[in-house]
Amino acid sequence: MRSRSPPITPQSWWNWNRLCAGPSFWEFCYNLEFGTLSELRTMPTHFSDSNVRWDLTSIYSAISDPQIDLDIAEFTKQAQQFNLNYKGKLADTLSSAISDYSELDMLGGKIMVYLSLQQSLDVTNDVVKAKIAEVQRTMSQVQGEYLTFFELELVALDDETLERWYASDAVVQRHRPWIEHQRVFKPHFLSESVEAALTKRAPFGPESWDEFFDECEADLRFDYKGFEHKAEKKNLTEMLDILTNSKDADLRAEVQKTINEGLGGYFAKYSAQTLYMIVGKSAVERKERHYRNPMESRNKENRIPDAVVDALHNAVTNVAGPLARRYYRLKAELLGMKTLRWSDRNAPLPYADTTVVPYDSAMSTVLAAYASFSPTLSGIIQGFIRSKHIDVPATPGKRGGAFNCSLVLPGSRPQSYTFLNYLGSNHDVMTLAHELGHGVHGILAGEAQGPLMFHPPIAYCETASVFGEMTTFNFLRTQLAEKGDNPALLALITQKIEGMLNTVVRQIGFSNFERRIHGMNADYTKWIDPKKLSVEELDALWLTTAKELYGAEGEVFTYENASHLWSYVSHFHRPFYVYGYAFGELLTQSLYAQQFRLGSQFEPLYLDLLRSGATKSVFELLQPFGLDPTEETFWADGIRVSLESMISEAEKLAPIRTAADVE
Ligand SMILES: [Zn+2]
Repeated sequence: MRSRSPPITPQSWWNWNRLCAGPSFWEFCYNLEFGTLSELRTMPTHFSDSNVRWDLTSIYSAISDPQIDLDIAEFTKQAQQFNLNYKGKLADTLSSAISDYSELDMLGGKIMVYLSLQQSLDVTNDVVKAKIAEVQRTMSQVQGEYLTFFELELVALDDETLERWYASDAVVQRHRPWIEHQRVFKPHFLSESVEAALTKRAPFGPESWDEFFDECEADLRFDYKGFEHKAEKKNLTEMLDILTNSKDADLRAEVQKTINEGLGGYFAKYSAQTLYMIVGKSAVERKERHYRNPMESRNKENRIPDAVVDALHNAVTNVAGPLARRYYRLKAELLGMKTLRWSDRNAPLPYADTTVVPYDSAMSTVLAAYASFSPTLSGIIQGFIRSKHIDVPATPGKRGGAFNCSLVLPGSRPQSYTFLNYLGSNHDVMTLAHELGHGVHGILAGEAQGPLMFHPPIAYCETASVFGEMTTFNFLRTQLAEKGDNPALLALITQKIEGMLNTVVRQIGFSNFERRIHGMNADYTKWIDPKKLSVEELDALWLTTAKELYGAEGEVFTYENASHLWSYVSHFHRPFYVYGYAFGELLTQSLYAQQFRLGSQFEPLYLDLLRSGATKSVFELLQPFGLDPTEETFWADGIRVSLESMISEAEKLAPIRTAADVE
């Protein structure tokens, strides 16, 4: 259940990745970094109510629906026609080309999303797997053959032609943000023949090793010597699960050691070589495409200037790093330890809340929380319930984790599907709130912007989800505070703090490691050519970048048996993906704090922000709220209003221990 990194190909805005698993359709819940297999073993089986299972019949009646093949044939026909109608003629036909392109996007999305949703319900279903492989082959062939020209010709249009279109045509005018965003990459395109060759070669490039990497990782087996030293083989997810759920510190340390040893040897070597391929490919392509630095392409994709990304990294290092150390000192105290081992970082606290929340009450809580600041949003969620667009129970064969998938179906009908493995923990209640946030975002932006412009870039597609989670968190916090239930309140708050630390501090730690392997110097001030790094060098770099945020050896943590942990982070195969998590979280925390300042003015501004989808830069997005993300203080404030205030609250609630107790 570790988070998946949705694949993205920069400069390729309508590509296979996007159709099958790209950010446009898939938003996997990133907080599920450590799964809860032990919970699965005790999963409730009382979900007999069919209202908590997806009804996908508004897309297709079943996997055997003949309409699927008819739609694939139609997609192929439309793509051929598109090529005939518009190739070489875009300057005169732009408006109808965009309209037809939107139709293709909606039809392709309909087919692929349906198959992917079906697969999520039963990952072992070979019929679905075979169908997906078949459709992938057909559609990538069609796309490569007939649609590649469009992007290149679109960015090649001269300013005068475009201005004429903007002034005279409503469709083109409406799609201006989308067109302008494509044109940002104009200086970085290569010739058509080179681009076409690279597109065809893409499935065999280093990023596509990801799937194979996952297979290798899934094959990893660790010798687990649990209680009574009964030897047993476990996979990585099961081993990581013990680190999160076991209250036995020595067992956690032993498991950590076994994981680290198991990742060494062949796996670490393979992983090091994969990173070298990724970094090397990126370095060559960056020069050919005239990017100034290895991150520029991702930053442009995210519509964020390099300076803003730097400000984020600095603020997390300077402000959130010390707060992380402060929190883990408190955690050490609560666990009765002087220093934490790395294996204790995600350990459960002694008073962790184990109440099981029935799904109905979770939904009532989330609805009430959303309704408390926006009846519009809670209304949309009620629509999801009525149309059975939420798949709730954890059943055998289902994909792990949680996600939301929003799309615009043919006929410009926005739809949103939420996928859960609901087991009733407080964490699951937060996940529900999180995914429904993506859902309302998808519906509002889908209605306002249509298929080509509704999905915000990675860096701020987490806005509504994090916001919904915060709203629900505060709703629960207030309830518990009113009841005076301090242990439960402390459990809730520490869980939220740890989630935020994993999203903000840990991901920036990842990002720093990544920046270093792509050639950034040790004080993060300039880029140099990257070089091939051995496993030992990567180990050392990993520990260095962790210590920059979590403190020197012995300060808060000791880092034994943590050196190879970089080797299973598959996010590194999508260069510079991870900082988006910290960006989205902190941006939303700053935004969240504004609702108390703006009062009733807040809701309409917030709904407008959600409706804007992918049409605005981060400046335009935040300007109505009086926020400026170029300043390091913006990020520092985001950290203070959220992390720091929660840590202070946890410190006040924590049972007081004296130094003697800790000894
Ligand atoms: Zn999310």
